[in-house]
Amino acid sequence: MKRVILFGAPGAGKGTQADMLEEKYGYKKISTGDLIRAEVAAKTHVGLEVKAIMEAGELVPDKTIIEILKKRLNQNDIVRANGYIMDGFPRTRPQAEELSRMEVDHEMAIYLNIVDEDVVVKRLMSRLTCSNCGAIFNVENNPPQKAGQCDFCAGPLRQRADDNEETIRKRIRVYRQQTQPVIDYYREKGLLHEIDASGSVEDIGEKLGQVMR
Ligand SMILES: [Zn+2]
Repeated sequence: MKRVILFGAPGAGKGTQADMLEEKYGYKKISTGDLIRAEVAAKTHVGLEVKAIMEAGELVPDKTIIEILKKRLNQNDIVRANGYIMDGFPRTRPQAEELSRMEVDHEMAIYLNIVDEDVVVKRLMSRLTCSNCGAIFNVENNPPQKAGQCDFCAGPLRQRADDNEETIRKRIRVYRQQTQPVIDYYREKGLLHEIDASGSVEDIGEKLGQVMR
């Protein structure tokens, strides 16, 4: 079993690349955020516990997240997969240490690092989302056939309210600060691969392919 831990600031294209890894290499994506939301929605024992914690405005403790994660890792589709991709976890060093205790045959951490922030800011600012079906277009490199209109459902396209320059730069800065200790952890272990995420989706995908080889 292989484990790929994927890191990338907002705009680095982490979601797109995770989808590609799933498709191309038969890996399963695991988002702890999604898992937690699913437990809450299903009203499981742990889900109800988490709901109470979140309603009290507190952080879900690591041991609870780990418990949910372990449950997921034991499910058949994961056991039978070539590997799995961690998305959004670990966020802290103690979480990374805990994850390391769940042994796998092969582990790597991939950091889609935004080297040229301006490129990413421009990319995010030129992004348009269909208010009807959620399809994403980009004025620069993936424009809709008809300006302002979704190719799939003809719904109106809008720029996301939080996609303004100041907010984007702040999100990238916050992500970097929070993630650095975890990135350092994997670097110290010799497991870190850094990829410049300022390039096109294809460029990033190609570099990712080289790392995965
Ligand atoms: Zn649409």
